[in-house]
Amino acid sequence: LTPVPSDLEISRAQIPKPVDQLAEEIGLLPEELEAYGRSKAKVRLSVLERLQSQPNGKYILVAGITPTPLGEGKSTVTVGLVQALSAHLRLNSFACLRQPSQGPTFGVKGGAAGGGYAQVIPMEEFNLHLTGDIHAITAANNLVAAAIDARMLHEATQSDKALFNRLVPSVNGVRKFSPIQISRLQRLGIRKTDPASLTPEEINAFVRLDLDPSKITWQRVVDTNDRFLRKITVGQASSEKGQIRETGFDIAVASEIMAILALADSLGDMKNRLARMVVGTSRSGQPITAEDLGVSGALAVLMKDAIKPTLMQTLEGTPVFVHAGPFANIAHGNSSVLADKLALKLVGQDGFVVTEAGFGADIGMEKFFNIKCRASGLRPSVVVLVATVRALKMHGGGPNVGQHSAVNLSLVAGGCRSNLRKQIQIVHLFGVPVVVAVNVFKTDTQAEIDLVCQIAKECGASDALPCNHWAQGGRGCSELAQAVKEAASKPSDYQFLYNTEVSADNKIRTIAQRVYGADDIELSPEAKTKTDYYHQQGYGSLPICMAKTHLSLSHMPDKKGAPTGFVLPIRDVRASIGAGFIYPLVGTMSTMPGLPTRPCFYDIDLDPVTEEITGLF
Ligand code: ADP
Repeated sequence: LTPVPSDLEISRAQIPKPVDQLAEEIGLLPEELEAYGRSKAKVRLSVLERLQSQPNGKYILVAGITPTPLGEGKSTVTVGLVQALSAHLRLNSFACLRQPSQGPTFGVKGGAAGGGYAQVIPMEEFNLHLTGDIHAITAANNLVAAAIDARMLHEATQSDKALFNRLVPSVNGVRKFSPIQISRLQRLGIRKTDPASLTPEEINAFVRLDLDPSKITWQRVVDTNDRFLRKITVGQASSEKGQIRETGFDIAVASEIMAILALADSLGDMKNRLARMVVGTSRSGQPITAEDLGVSGALAVLMKDAIKPTLMQTLEGTPVFVHAGPFANIAHGNSSVLADKLALKLVGQDGFVVTEAGFGADIGMEKFFNIKCRASGLRPSVVVLVATVRALKMHGGGPNVGQHSAVNLSLVAGGCRSNLRKQIQIVHLFGVPVVVAVNVFKTDTQAEIDLVCQIAKECGASDALPCNHWAQGGRGCSELAQAVKEAASKPSDYQFLYNTEVSADNKIRTIAQRVYGADDIELSPEAKTKTDYYHQQGYGSLPICMAKTHLSLSHMPDKKGAPTGFVLPIRDVRASIGAGFIYPLVGTMSTMPGLPTRPCFYDIDLDPVTEEITGLF
């Protein structure tokens, strides 16, 4: 339709096919499906075993140039591309997307189901609670937080003996360690299984985690942009006996548990990663894990359904996995390894799996390659780099408002020769061919679009094409699908950006200089102490997950284009040992976003009679 109706109107006008029919079409067996209502279902991981000998399809990554705050259409291109591959090139194809956080859905950016005629439906189910995975993550994360504070209170107020008697209760006159406690004893070097045989020194080591309150790195989480929770004080009730400390909240999608969900490749792997999560340090400098707190089994129980990807469909009825949703600026920004692996088997050798890396290629794509591909062993054949005329004008020196401005070819050229060129170069650092997709808005002119395609090819893109999927669905994206198919048939020369064995400082410097274009990095004293500590603890060879603004290649959100001549400040460094990365905080980057004066929730409403939702986008 012209003009294109709202995302919600389009979504509602299309009745999704029943999810069991979709599952049958893509080769799933009825027993491999757990339906949540009519249009979405979790898929059991046993499919991977059944299709073990099936060759994988082609793996395509959608990344982007540095976006405006509104987003430049990566999700939309991802959906449009699979619609074009399936419906127009008649190839099996699957989209693997992240589950949106309620932060942006109710904040500024809106949901993440795509848009126009390239969306996942029903979009309100996609954008809201889906199958509850983010709620499960929040519950698991906050169980760890509660366990930390309760444990510190109990250790502060009880003798060794009283603690031991409560931690290892006597049942019918017999005390027995639980398996999780035996594993803690083994890590302490105590090879005893009979509680009665422990010496007082061993009892002391066993019962006292002796967490240093100033070195607890675990935060609580909530999936709302709630800036007032960035710093809080807990333990102020008299029942907590003065165990007061400052802590804070992160947004749930920045939780280490979300990162684990995205990177785990089996239930067993997820359980081990949850157990390894380091929550803080003891007064003697030892890392304390979720397993030390005795909570890791319970976390696996809370997360056991979340590990199964959720099957949904595009507007044109092609399959989509929605699974995990870490932000790309404060986490690793990619959907799950398991969803990609399942989809690659389901599409078969000639099929295509298209997934998306959050924000610009400097952010989500760098982490896709250096963290996700390292964990999964999978290698993409092509990167599709999404650009818009509006963002390129901004990078060329135009207004920084994320809105269209008047036709101006010199601003467009400026943006192409700075940001687009740099982002193409970043993809080439990994040896993968890049196809530029110009996501066309109705205000773009042909001359502007042609200019972007021309400069993109001059900058080394294998191809560059305009895409009209937002206004036309898969049909508007069929040339892109053809170009991706051709690029995917050529051999790529994949390589990692850094060797994980070098020091953390060197890995951070490599990303800063080669990806962001910085002259150097500057570690704060706190960041330096932490990297040294992580090195001593044996975590030195983990990859790096930078937490940096997505609004600039640098750490300064208002520096557009391709900034040079800056030193990247590393304010702090954290470690996500279970997820398996070191996590530097760049500049003033916060792990809990805030709400603007007029968030999108002003427009969101429900008709109590028809139960129709309005205002989601
Ligand atoms: P990203 O994934 O890069 O953050 P999205 O695909 O979510 O971006 O798109 C951001 C917003 O812009 C969505 O609300 C989407 O509907 C809208 N949008 C994307 N492409 C177009 C287009 N070509 N014309 C109009 N609106 C668009």
